[in-house]
Amino acid sequence: MLNADDCLRYCEMEFYCPNCNTRLSPCETPPFHIGDGLGWGAEVMFVCLNDECPPYVKGWEHIEAAYGHVGSYRYMRLANEEKGELMMVGNQMAFTGSVLDPEVIMAANKRYQQECEWVKQLDTCVADKNLTPVMGILLDEKASLNNKMKASRLLVHLNDISCIDALRNLEYKNGDLEVQRKQAITGILKNNYMKECPDCMEIVKNKAAKCKHCGKDL
Ligand SMILES: [Zn+2]
Ligand SMILES: [Zn+2]
Repeated sequence: MLNADDCLRYCEMEFYCPNCNTRLSPCETPPFHIGDGLGWGAEVMFVCLNDECPPYVKGWEHIEAAYGHVGSYRYMRLANEEKGELMMVGNQMAFTGSVLDPEVIMAANKRYQQECEWVKQLDTCVADKNLTPVMGILLDEKASLNNKMKASRLLVHLNDISCIDALRNLEYKNGDLEVQRKQAITGILKNNYMKECPDCMEIVKNKAAKCKHCGKDL
């Protein structure tokens, strides 16, 4: 896997297409070499994605005539090789989805660094009465399942009723995590002498005889 620093380094490299002088786009290499099944020997290749590039424009006819199938050529080179080559592509979209975008990489890296920071704080958050790392992880869609499981186990220990609405609005696809979320809600409510009204699901005091929201006898 490419890390963010490597990705950003590749994004800064400047190579130009010898056929059309367009700056080559850094693209993640496909997991296998389409022709011979061998690896590319590099994580990133630089590709001319200019649709006006002469070998690309002429390539469709040439491949049709020579091989009888649809395709064309894109110029590509690797960072550590002096010369590039023309590479066969099956359609116009080939490689356009794998272009490395520094902004996307930096945003993903920032999110990841924040998750790491929160994970570190999990060890002390109960002592510090600090709900932030726990809810940060639980509300971050991209946080790892393992970290979410770890964070959700701390909810009852933190016993902070202020997270109850956010917690009730969550829903996880993972069954184990969903069980922990529901147990945490029940546990926090119980420890704060509250419960959910079985009719309207609003939170009411444990001792209430009637729900103040819907009027149901409890
Ligand atoms: Zn070109
Ligand atoms: Zn009610």
